[in-house]
Amino acid sequence: MKLKLAATLLASAIAMPAQADVLIDNVSGITIDEEGKVKRFEALVIDDDGKIARLVERGEERPRTDYLEDGEGRVMLPGFIDAHGHVSSVGFNALTLDLSATNSLEEALEAIRVFAEENEARPWILGRGWNQEKWGLGRFPTAAELDSVVSDRPVWLNRVDGHAGWGNSLALRAAGIDASTVSPEGGRIEKLADGKTPSGVFIDLAMGLVEKVLPAPRPVERDLALAEAQKVLHAQGITAMADMGTTIEDWQSFRRAGDNGSLTLRIMAYSAGPEQMVLIGGSGPTPWLYDDKLRLNGIKLYLDGALGSRGAWLKQPYADDPHNTGLPLTPPAALRNILVRAAQGNFQPAIHAIGTAANAEALNAIGEIAESFGGDRRWRIEHVQIVDPSDLPKLAEHGIISSMQPVHQTSDMFMAEARLGPDRLGGAYAWSSILELGGRLAFGSDAPVESADPFAGLAVAITRSNAEGEPFGGWRPTERVTREQALAGFTSEAAFAGFAEGRFGRLLPGERADFILVDIDPLLATPDEIRATKVHETWVGGRKVYDAD
Ligand SMILES: [Zn+2]
Repeated sequence: MKLKLAATLLASAIAMPAQADVLIDNVSGITIDEEGKVKRFEALVIDDDGKIARLVERGEERPRTDYLEDGEGRVMLPGFIDAHGHVSSVGFNALTLDLSATNSLEEALEAIRVFAEENEARPWILGRGWNQEKWGLGRFPTAAELDSVVSDRPVWLNRVDGHAGWGNSLALRAAGIDASTVSPEGGRIEKLADGKTPSGVFIDLAMGLVEKVLPAPRPVERDLALAEAQKVLHAQGITAMADMGTTIEDWQSFRRAGDNGSLTLRIMAYSAGPEQMVLIGGSGPTPWLYDDKLRLNGIKLYLDGALGSRGAWLKQPYADDPHNTGLPLTPPAALRNILVRAAQGNFQPAIHAIGTAANAEALNAIGEIAESFGGDRRWRIEHVQIVDPSDLPKLAEHGIISSMQPVHQTSDMFMAEARLGPDRLGGAYAWSSILELGGRLAFGSDAPVESADPFAGLAVAITRSNAEGEPFGGWRPTERVTREQALAGFTSEAAFAGFAEGRFGRLLPGERADFILVDIDPLLATPDEIRATKVHETWVGGRKVYDAD
């Protein structure tokens, strides 16, 4: 859309003030209002602080402003808020070589060669996405094959599923790996035909043998990753993200961007454990910094692992592994100690819990500690994937927020059936039940584990089907949410989950003017149309930060 001077101002030929108010007219505006209802409008006025001055509804007269922009009839939505993501990882992910589109080993090797040439300054070549099955190779690739295209630097490439890594000879040498190296428990060093020489591919926990020698990113690389993450996220219509597992190095990078004016993503940070919490925040959460762009809200902690690797902690053994129930990653006493310590400092806890036992334990611990620490705590449970149906009502107590990722449901559904069996899924990804019981949902993506695309998330939230429309009619479809609930989950409720309500997340007077212009109305479009939404523009604080043209 084109920026135009309002006619009044042109006529009087007054010099443009540095800050000015702007009318964005001719939009089909949608927001969630204070009552949680959908509100529609036709124009929006941004004040000179980048906040929303007012909405103009159908039939209302347009106010005079310094600038006028024509929205060209596009749909205006609040900027999406991803309630669970990993900002730096999104950036690093975007900066590494992506081999997922390659169809043969030769094609991949050529891509690696070109990438190494284009990135001469990088001491290691890092990448991901290879898949020897897609290449029709019939075996794993080898270090020698990598050496044939990059022999001056170590190379380390993750397989598409993240469960294997492929290195060249210099990577193996850097990690001190030779024929005498023993595979660690839970991992395997692939060998060449002689049965002794490491082939260059490392499975599961054996990947750690090489990963532990990867160089830590330098500050300049972190800043590059943040810039890249902002680009990627804004292009998808995301204006804010809860950063799950912020380290002091991440935080310093966010601060540098804030200080030099390049921070355009709003980041609600949750520290990577208690030490980072104190390093970043000291005795309590930080204030909102840089016009509501950055705040340390609280602490992220892990109660269990993931379902795929059977690390999720279950009440009963895995259906496909009858001696295994998964494991608690934080023992009960430690969990309570950390929660008390966080609560004493008013840090907001965000507890990763996937399995039935982990969710029960999180709920019990919160219940106990909330007795002594009342008030508006907004205890967050992250993922809340498989809950024992008898525990679901507890998700509505003590102001708990269920921070969930709709796309995980379609990615995991068949695997979840294998891990648990069909009879133990009554509380699986139970979005609708949680709302009906009086709980609160915030939606996110877990990017870069999944794509950050919030429109894919919206489509799953209202269908429980994947991009192929499977399963037909949706997986456990009673747990679908309405379009309005889905939109709120990715905007106003995601803001509430981060103590940001009233600052951003809705298009209402007094809030930051964070919005996107798109080509479809997600409250009316088909799920396929929602998935194909084109984001034309993304604005943060009244400033355009992404333009598709
Ligand atoms: Zn995560």
